[in-house]
Amino acid sequence: MLILGIESSCDETAAALVRSDRTIVAHKLAGQEAAHAPYGGVVPEIAARAHVEMVGPLVEAALAEGGVALRDVDAIAATAGPGLIGGVMVGLVTAKALALASGKPLIAVNHLEGHALSARLTDPDLQFPYLLLLVSGGHCQLLLVAGVGRYRRLATTIDDAAGEAFDKTAKLLGLGFPGGPAVERAAADGDPRAVPLPRPLFGSPEPHFSFAGLKSAVLRARDAGTHRAEDIAASFQQAVIDCLVDRTRVAIRAAALPVSSQDGSITALVVAGGVAANRSVRAALETLAAEHGLRFVAPPLWLCTDNAAMIAWAGAERFAAGLTDPLDVAARPRWPLDPDAEKVRGAGV
Ligand code: ATP
Ligand code: MG
Ligand code: FE
Repeated sequence: MLILGIESSCDETAAALVRSDRTIVAHKLAGQEAAHAPYGGVVPEIAARAHVEMVGPLVEAALAEGGVALRDVDAIAATAGPGLIGGVMVGLVTAKALALASGKPLIAVNHLEGHALSARLTDPDLQFPYLLLLVSGGHCQLLLVAGVGRYRRLATTIDDAAGEAFDKTAKLLGLGFPGGPAVERAAADGDPRAVPLPRPLFGSPEPHFSFAGLKSAVLRARDAGTHRAEDIAASFQQAVIDCLVDRTRVAIRAAALPVSSQDGSITALVVAGGVAANRSVRAALETLAAEHGLRFVAPPLWLCTDNAAMIAWAGAERFAAGLTDPLDVAARPRWPLDPDAEKVRGAGV
């Protein structure tokens, strides 16, 4: 089976062709960093316009790179949410048009499911169920991944996402946009013990996350004027890592219990999403997994940040499970992987 995938939920436009045997036939991506950099963050209207310009050429380029025509594709998958609605609609409408013109089935993919299953694209041995730390620009969650479309959220952030904290810290320190890679580079030249910063929720029995207080502490450290930006960056990165590891450790204890008798116990800790591209984050989680006798699986760096290969792969997994969508499927700005967990948001999470 050959799946065409399209991604346009934030500030990357991308198209890819992936086979169900895990061959990445082609992947094309156009970032928009230069367009958003003057504003220090993603501007939705600029993003949507850029997606309109790029999506057609990228689909054509992916087909050309793969040496295939649309008629050779078995299904067309596109991100249908969550994300910036203007951008999501551009990719989804493109996929609908291609599906209508070619008579191929459409698969509406949850962008978070793309991240959640991305590790299975490059690791054929990764079986369900696994514990997933999803750390991206908009999300910071611990999920039990029991199967395609079967997610149980164990924890989430009560304020900022981890990637958002990296982006805000980069902005506060004048390190540029996008923030995550800039903080990682600066941190490499800094001392992680130089600046005392808080570890919000560290040690609390529920594995939830919080990063807003950390960001405020970075602001105070900057304004104190006594620390190098590199030292603040390194101390910030270490504080985030300490929180991610501590919270994940709590979740491992909870997740070690069988999901249900038919699913069995987790055998792997998986990290995905843009922050999973951070080498220090990966190393710390690898150590944690080893301490608990779990395999550690992280996708290659390019597959952690937004791309269309993960959308095509999620499409392949859904297609194999017989899941396709009607042509009038809606784009969704919000779309939780575990809707049941969202219903208990009253508790503040
Ligand atoms: P979501 O997936 O939640 O909708 P998104 O698609 O915008 O959000 P991703 O593309 O998965 O997020 O990840 C982007 C985020 O990852 C940004 O916040 C970015 O700063 C962060 N990031 C990317 N590379 C690194 C890195 N090397 N270190 C830390 N953070 C990083
Ligand atoms: Mg991006
Ligand atoms: Fe993403």
